[in-house]
Amino acid sequence: MTKSLAGRVALVTGASSGIGEAAAIALAQAGADVAISARRADRLAQLASKIEALGQKTLALPGDVVDEKLATEAVEKTIAHFGKIDILINSAGIMHMGMMEAADMAEYRRVMDVNLMGTVYTSKAAIKPMKAQGHGDIVNISSQAGRKTGPMVGAYAASKHALNAMSDSLRQEVGGHGIRVCVLMPGATTTEVADSLSDPNFRAAIKSHVTKDGAVAASEIADAIVFVVSQPQRVNIDLISVRPTADTTA
Ligand code: NDP
Repeated sequence: MTKSLAGRVALVTGASSGIGEAAAIALAQAGADVAISARRADRLAQLASKIEALGQKTLALPGDVVDEKLATEAVEKTIAHFGKIDILINSAGIMHMGMMEAADMAEYRRVMDVNLMGTVYTSKAAIKPMKAQGHGDIVNISSQAGRKTGPMVGAYAASKHALNAMSDSLRQEVGGHGIRVCVLMPGATTTEVADSLSDPNFRAAIKSHVTKDGAVAASEIADAIVFVVSQPQRVNIDLISVRPTADTTA
């Protein structure tokens, strides 16, 4: 039986762990060849073996998405290697917590750089080739913090609100060229995201939040990603929220 994404080429950022890693595996299971990017080359090598074991081709592209040149090159190298890019999943991201009055401005800026600008760099690089082929999928991993906020998550929520706005603006620019843009907003999902927090107390709190009973599995977010990119070309699922059933917040 032909797999649903057979013949498609994907690039996944933030592929060394969590949602990005699960997405890379799910895309490969659905038949796509998958280029994978993140800073930890050792983790990418492990993932590459898993993708190859599924019978798909892969390309590891270690690099920091904050570096515009490296982020752009990740797209360019995917195309140079596989001949095209059909699907771009932007999952590279970090968390941040803390009161603004005590905030480290370098950390604050880095949240914006990774969560917003990293996604802008790869998306910008993908537009021209996707336009030329008349189709493409860009899926940006946002957060529930992309549509609401609270105390101590100003940097993170601002980065995700900005990501949502940037993504929908891009959707309006490129939909006429056959390119679909989707914002996916996960709720608590069991990943390594807590490790990106520098404050040990906040790190422990977020770790317990994302590993609690009933948290969504990264593979379940990945299933939603495959669902989004498997729609008929005329259908753009532009916004999707996936969170624990027990999350009864507004
Ligand atoms: P993980 O920490 O498991 O994954 C984050 C990924 O981003 C890693 O592969 C990491 O790789 C990569 N990354 C971080 N900084 C950079 C950088 N500067 N350059 C390149 N890659 C980078 O967490 P998640 O899978 O949970 O996070 C994925 C996305 O999901 C994030 O955008 C996060 O905000 C979002 N999200 C997660 C939720 C959750 O509950 N887990 C809830 C809502 C949203 P490396 O360190 O090797 O570079």
